[in-house]
Amino acid sequence: MIKGKVSVFWFRRDLRLEDNTALIRALETGYPVLPVFIFDIQIIDELAVDDPRVFFIYGQLQQINQKLAQRNSSLSVLRGDPLAVWKELSDSYDIHAVYANKDYEPYANSRDREIGDLLACRSIPFHRFKDQVIFEEHEIVKKDGKPYTVFTPYKRKWLEKFRGGSFLPPAGEASGAFLRISADFPRLEALGFKPSQLKVLPYDLSRLKDYPHLRDLPGPDATTYLSPHLRFGTVSIRKIVGSLGPSDEIFLSELIWREFFMQILFHFPQVVSQNFHPKYNGITWNTNPDDFERWCRGETGYPMVDAGMRQLNATGYMHNRVRMVTAGFLCKHLLTDWRLGEAYFAEQLLDYELSSNNGNWQWAAGTGCDAAPYFRVFNPTEQVKKFDRDLEYIRQWIPEFGTSAYPEPMIDHRFARERALEAYRKGIENYLPES
Ligand code: FAD
Repeated sequence: MIKGKVSVFWFRRDLRLEDNTALIRALETGYPVLPVFIFDIQIIDELAVDDPRVFFIYGQLQQINQKLAQRNSSLSVLRGDPLAVWKELSDSYDIHAVYANKDYEPYANSRDREIGDLLACRSIPFHRFKDQVIFEEHEIVKKDGKPYTVFTPYKRKWLEKFRGGSFLPPAGEASGAFLRISADFPRLEALGFKPSQLKVLPYDLSRLKDYPHLRDLPGPDATTYLSPHLRFGTVSIRKIVGSLGPSDEIFLSELIWREFFMQILFHFPQVVSQNFHPKYNGITWNTNPDDFERWCRGETGYPMVDAGMRQLNATGYMHNRVRMVTAGFLCKHLLTDWRLGEAYFAEQLLDYELSSNNGNWQWAAGTGCDAAPYFRVFNPTEQVKKFDRDLEYIRQWIPEFGTSAYPEPMIDHRFARERALEAYRKGIENYLPES
């Protein structure tokens, strides 16, 4: 065992040294802090070798490592099954305590429980802190202590609490001593990956001045691109929220949606694979793989849908309005199970976040908490008139638009709408609640 007690800080989805709650706490212990990051094989073994999110994470870790070098330390980047890695770490170091920020996803929670148990057997406390949200799972609940399943009252309570001042201001860069160590920083290839062509763009809050009137228009591209940064914690949510003014209310509301879906996933983990409302379990979905593949490729003949899917495939990003249109089209027009679309987005999105992706897909399918009613079927042609009237977005992503090379609509809107309504109606009728 290496001599001398250390505190260990475990980076997960909080890839920054500034305003990082658990890291600040670890440094306050007075013991030198060993910073670690684990490439979890349970997650990364499922990914493509050029997965852009891994590439992004890797770049962030490199930056953190460079900053740590200025403080005579370095980041220990490890690869493996987290339980095995923690066995080894606790064999190698005399650990005072382990510090990490909380993650609310079902897998992360069960992993943390397992590791907490392992550490407890070795008399090492495992401390976890709220960091990636303003308010976490038990902080915004109904009077009877039950979770909210409807957004508007959740948001009202959230804002009440926020304005009441029970919100921690952001802190700066953590001070305190890191362990003097010079760990080898692995090459990306040694971790089983290679660089990706797709890049996470920097976020841009200067776009907020036009946000209220431009945010729904994909052509002007006026949203902040904050999502992957919040996903991987390269910026603190407290810093973002702390920088907002009274005119940023609509934007703040979007950030509240993020926390709403996080608490839904925490309290109702079954949504990962099931409809939030079981009454939709009786729907018979269309399983034609060709339909799904045309949607994936952006060749449905509905330009807003196709432009969106092509943007996603080319950049790993899609504008929110278009995500709603493409998701609605898959579930309603093609009558395809939302779980297929959700999985495709999960593979492609740079900002993929289980809670937001699942919550929004179930919203689009009409099966979710506080979802769009099932009989509301977007008309993808009307959506163009409302949100891309000058065809700026469509022309950007479909160069052959308006020529004979562009396909005819693969399904008639009115026919598709009637078919969906019928299938949903029948599904609800056929549903037999489990006794
Ligand atoms: P901005 O408009 O600038 O919003 C700022 C932030 O608010 C976002 O970064 C995000 O954190 C939050 N936010 C905005 N809209 C939503 C929303 N509807 N639900 C939850 N949070 C929101 N967002 C993800 O972060 N990951 C996903 O995997 C994801 N999947 C989605 C799937 C579908 C079918 C739909 C309709 C939406 C999905 N969203 C997801 C929500 C939303 O589309 C993105 O957060 C947004 O487009 C990201 O771009 P931005 O940061 O420029 O957005």
